[in-house]
Amino acid sequence: MGRIVLASGNRGKLAEFGHLLADADFEVVAQGELGVEDVEETGLTFVENALLKARHAARVTGLPALADDSGLCVDALGGAPGLYSARYAGGHGDSAANNAKLLRALDGRPDADRRAFFICVLVLLRHADDPAPLVAEGRWHGRVLHAPRGEGGFGYDPLFLPDGHTLGAAELDKALKNRISHRGQALDQLRARLGDLAA
Ligand code: IMP
Repeated sequence: MGRIVLASGNRGKLAEFGHLLADADFEVVAQGELGVEDVEETGLTFVENALLKARHAARVTGLPALADDSGLCVDALGGAPGLYSARYAGGHGDSAANNAKLLRALDGRPDADRRAFFICVLVLLRHADDPAPLVAEGRWHGRVLHAPRGEGGFGYDPLFLPDGHTLGAAELDKALKNRISHRGQALDQLRARLGDLAA
């Protein structure tokens, strides 16, 4: 079984990707276990940042590398919070502050001005200089609610109403959310293309 380094320290992601890649006969190892430090995310797009992270991990370890980048883009805000989703209100990962800031930014705006989508980009590099990485992308469209709803999920889920649903992202059954979300879509795409890995 080959090894792949995951350019993330997130345990949830390690489990999720580990499961996915086990089918393709790969063991996923977190970059921290291999002494890889976080790289600065200086890209201007999700795909650039995912590539930066994967390339850095592949370069340091000499292994194939998988990275992801995700966030929420609101049309009326020019795509914000976008790349800065995790630290929109300043502190990294302060979801309550991020959500409060998003509600303020859209204060008084009607539903038509609250269109948004979650995006997840996954990049798999066979080696640091791989000129043809596998790139998978999922987008989950919907709109930003006027007030938080639901107790589940994480991040911006309490403020997101997915198209075609009457329940918000934080009210949806977790397994259902994982299947239909931006991340679920990107994972499906990557899974479908794993055969290309050996090519
Ligand atoms: P990262 O790609 O794990 O760094 O995630 C970036 C940020 O995007 C997270 O901290 C969340 O604020 C937001 N985000 C990404 N995916 C989701 C989701 O499925 N639900 C809610 N927030 C999300």
